Amino acid sequence: MATRVGLYGGTFDPIHVGHLLVARAVRERLELDRLILIPSAHPPHKPVGRLTEAAHRLAMTKAAVDAEQGFEVSDCETKRSGPSYTIDTVAEYRRQLGGDAEIVWLIGSDTLQELAGWYRVAELVDACRFVVAPRPGCESPDLTSLGVALNPEQIDRLRGSFVGAPRIDVSATEIRRRVASGLSVRWMVPEPVRRYIVDHHLYTADR
Ligand code: ATP
Repeated sequence: MATRVGLYGGTFDPIHVGHLLVARAVRERLELDRLILIPSAHPPHKPVGRLTEAAHRLAMTKAAVDAEQGFEVSDCETKRSGPSYTIDTVAEYRRQLGGDAEIVWLIGSDTLQELAGWYRVAELVDACRFVVAPRPGCESPDLTSLGVALNPEQIDRLRGSFVGAPRIDVSATEIRRRVASGLSVRWMVPEPVRRYIVDHHLYTADR
């Protein structure tokens, strides 16, 4: 059977239980051989200045999935210069895995609404299989904006690409705010990630 590989890109600033429980559910449901978390270096849609250094985000992502079978972390975007375009990452994995592999790109439903703004998105949705995890607060995303970039068949395909996954109402923004306010983030991130945040003084109000 052809290899089936899931790629999950994000700023992961920091990685949290929302990302992880969704990733595990998708890996199991789709019977993915590998699930690769890919911290993004310069996401084209987020201001770079506000992002924690890539080395920290990469280290936290590695700490989160350490020794979890089937999970890997890739530095392919953080070591590439320039903006992190998903189409380049998919092309890189296609070269590595060969033409027979199935490449699944995982996103949350809030991201699905923003897809029209992604670089060469029409090519991208044909270059891999998008899978969408429902995110609390965005369970029925408004897909009207996709019409400017994608054709009706592509939009229908995306509409049908939702998978069952736990609804975890946690965001990295909330975690950063809680740390800055001196509130606990225990249970919102894996313990090694929480310790990393404390040890490296990340997200404190004075940073
Ligand atoms: P921020 O609050 O900094 O914007 P975030 O929590 O949305 O961050 P990202 O790293 O930007 O996390 O998200 C990476 C991907 O994971 C996106 O496709 C996003 O939709 C998805 N995602 C993030 N949190 C959840 C969640 N709780 N449930 C489902 N999908 C999620």
